[in-house]
Amino acid sequence: MIAEVIVDITNSEVDKVFDYNTGNLNVLTGSRVSVPFGNRKIEGLVIALKEKSDFPEEKIKTIAEVLDDFPALTKESLNLVNYIANRYSVSKASAIRLFLPAEMRRGRVSEKQVEFVSINENISFEDVLSSISKSAKKQLSAIKALKEKGRIRATILRQEYGAGAVKALTEKNLVIIDKIRVNRLPYSEMLSERKFVTLTNTQNNAIESINSTQKRVTLLHGVTGSGKTEVYLELISQVIKMGKTAIMLVPEISLTPQMFKQLRGRFNELCAILHSGLSAGERFDEWSRLRSGEAKIAIGARSAVFAPLENLGLIIIDEEHDGSYESESSPRYSTIDIAKMRAEYNDCKLVIGSATPSIESYMKANSGEYNIAKMPERINKKPLPEIIVADMRQEIRRGNNSYFSSVMKEELENTLNAGKQAIIFLNRRGFSQQVICRECGYVAKCTTCDVSLNYHKAGDLLKCHYCGANYKMLDACPECGSSNLNLIGTGTQKIVTELKNLFPNAKIARMDNDTTQNKEGHFKILNSFANHECDILVGTQMIAKGHDFPNVVLVGILDADMSLHFSDYRSNERTYQLLTQVAGRSGRAGDKGKVVLQTYSPQNAVLRFAMNYDYDNFFDREIAIRKATHFPPFALIIRVLVESPDDAKAMDGLKQVYFALKDLKDANANEFLFFNKMKSPIKRLKNKYRYQVLMRIRPNNDKIRDKIYEIVSSFKLDNTFINVEENPSNLS
Ligand code: ADP
Ligand code: ZN
Ligand code: ZN
Repeated sequence: MIAEVIVDITNSEVDKVFDYNTGNLNVLTGSRVSVPFGNRKIEGLVIALKEKSDFPEEKIKTIAEVLDDFPALTKESLNLVNYIANRYSVSKASAIRLFLPAEMRRGRVSEKQVEFVSINENISFEDVLSSISKSAKKQLSAIKALKEKGRIRATILRQEYGAGAVKALTEKNLVIIDKIRVNRLPYSEMLSERKFVTLTNTQNNAIESINSTQKRVTLLHGVTGSGKTEVYLELISQVIKMGKTAIMLVPEISLTPQMFKQLRGRFNELCAILHSGLSAGERFDEWSRLRSGEAKIAIGARSAVFAPLENLGLIIIDEEHDGSYESESSPRYSTIDIAKMRAEYNDCKLVIGSATPSIESYMKANSGEYNIAKMPERINKKPLPEIIVADMRQEIRRGNNSYFSSVMKEELENTLNAGKQAIIFLNRRGFSQQVICRECGYVAKCTTCDVSLNYHKAGDLLKCHYCGANYKMLDACPECGSSNLNLIGTGTQKIVTELKNLFPNAKIARMDNDTTQNKEGHFKILNSFANHECDILVGTQMIAKGHDFPNVVLVGILDADMSLHFSDYRSNERTYQLLTQVAGRSGRAGDKGKVVLQTYSPQNAVLRFAMNYDYDNFFDREIAIRKATHFPPFALIIRVLVESPDDAKAMDGLKQVYFALKDLKDANANEFLFFNKMKSPIKRLKNKYRYQVLMRIRPNNDKIRDKIYEIVSSFKLDNTFINVEENPSNLS
C-alpha cells in the first residue's frame, strides 16, 4: 500500500504531501508516522491510502514507524482538516495541528507509566516463600505485603522494604514488574458532589424544545441565573445514556471552574477537560482519554471544539456571544461554524446559550434558521438586580471629583455593614482611548461610520479605525463648548487606592492582567473571594463572566460608557452584554441584588435597555443601525493586513495586493460596500510596519470571500506577511 503523508514542517505555508510505502506496518488513515526525509526522520500524518503511486517505485521510501497504536485523527477530523484548509486558505499541516495536543507532536510527552510489582503467578506461593532465606526479613515482609495487596507501586515497595530486597526478589524471578499506564487527572481535588435539583417547567420545556425541533441549532436564551447549566447537564446526561458523546464549550475555563466542578460532580471521570492551563502531560492524558473513548464528555474553551470524540450526540456552546470563540491567530476560525460542521457530520444537535445572544445569532433565531428556547426568569422567580444609574456629570457639577458617585459610596457602605460582598467592575480593553467631555458626556464619532474615534498620541489625532479618516484633536466640546475634555479610562490601581481611603476596614482584592500573570493566579483570587476572605473585588472584564458568588449583593460599574465608545461596530452589543453579565453577578442567592451604574450619558439608549433587561428592544434598535450603516450581519468586514519589518517592502506588498483585489472589486462592484487601502491605525507594531486593505462585502457571498483568500494566498513576498481577517474585533 501507498500512504499519502503530510510532513510536519513548521513555518511552511505550503503542504508537502509525499507518497510512502507502508511496508509491513499497520498504517491507517489518520495515523501519525515517522518517515525518512532527506537524511533525517520527521513526523507526518497519513491523510490517505492508495494502491499505487504515480512516482516510480524505486523512488518511494518506506515509513519507518507508526507512532501510536490508534490513528490520531478520526475520519471526521480529516474531513474538517480539508474544510479548514480550504475555507481559511491555510496549509493542511497547520489545520492538523488544531486536532492534536501540541505535546504530541515531536514526541514531547509520553504516556505516564508507573511500575507496579506483583508476585510471579507461575510459581506457587509456598515455593515463593521457601525460595527466600529465613534471615531475609525485608524480602519476606515485602512478599507478605504483596500477597495481601495484589500489587504495589515499585517506588513505594522500595521505600518501605529497601531497594536491595526488591532487586533480590526480582532477580530470583519471584516477583514481576509491570509498567502500567496511569492518567494524570487534572483538578482531581475538585471532584465535587452532585447537586440534585428538580427541573422547573421552564427548564423542562427548553429541553423538550431542543429535543423535538427539526432544526440543527437551538439558541437557548435565558436570563442570568435562569438555570441554563442544569439544562445543559440534563441534555448531556440524555446523550450519554444513548451511548453517545458530548462537547461543552465555555469562554474561558480557568475563569469558570464552577462549570467543570458541576460536570465532574455529575459525570465523574466520563468528562475530560482540555485547556491551555494544564500541564503538557495532563493535556495529553485528557486528550487520550477522549480519543480512546474512555472519557465521553469534553469540556473546554474554543479549541475543545476539535475534541477527538466519535459518535457525537450533542455540542453545547455556553455564553455563545463571547468574543473568545473567534480565533485570533491563523487559522482564524469561527467556533460556531466548526461546531455546526461537526453537528452536521454527526447528525446531532448544537445548543448555543446566552443571556445576551450575539446580534447575528438572534437574527438567525428570529428568521427561523435557528430554533429558540427562552427562559425569561431567574430560578424561583428571583428578581433580577435593580440597576441604579449615577449621573457622573451631576457629580462633577456638585464638586465630587472622586471615581465614586455618592450613591455608589452609600451602597458600598450598606453592603459592608451588612457583612456582604461587592464587586467593582472596570471596563478596560487594549490600547484604544477615546476623548470624552466631562461636562456633557459627548464623545467624538466618525461622521460616516458612526463609531467612536480613537485618540492617537502620535500626531495628536483622532482616527476612525473602520475607514481610516483622520480628525483634528478637539480643543473644546462641539456640543457644549466646555474645555473639560478627558481621555476615558482609569487604572484599577488608582481605584483600589481610593477605595482603601474610603473604607479603611474593608479587605479589597484586585484582579486584572497585572495582578494575575497566570491562570493559577485568577483561580486563587476567585477562590479567596468565594470564601469571603475579602469584601470587595475590583477587576476588569475577567470578573464579568459566569461566576456564582452567593454573598455578592452589590455590583458597581465605573465608567459604563467605556465600552460604548470603543471604536468597534460591536460596541453597543458588547456594552449590553457586559452590563447584563456583570449585573448578573449580583443577588444570586438570598438577598436581592443591586447594581450601581456610573455614566456620563444616562440617557444613552443602550444603557437604558440594559437597565431594564430589555433585550428585544435593544436588538430591534441595533439591527436597524447595522442595516443602515452596512455593518455585520448586513456586511462582511474583511481586512487584509500587510506587515513587514521593512517599511518599503510592506508598502510594496500592499500595492501589489491592493491592485489584485481592486481588479476583483471592479469586476464585482455591486458586491463591495466599502473598499480602500490605508496605513493601519497603529502604523508600527512589534517592529513591523503595517498597511491594510479594508473591505466590506455583501454577506453570504462565499464566492467573493473565497476569491479574496485565494488572491491573498497567491502572494509569496519576501519577509512580508499577509493575513486575511473576517469581522476582526480589533482593528488597530
Ligand atoms: P445561568 O447559567 O442561567 O446563569 P445557573 O445554571 O447558574 O444559571 O443557575 C442559577 C442557580 O439556580 C444555580 O445556583 C443553580 O444551582 C440553581 N438552579 C438551577 N436549576 C434549579 C432548579 N431546577 N431548582 C433549584 N435550583 C436550581
Ligand atoms: Zn460637552
Ligand atoms: Zn469612519
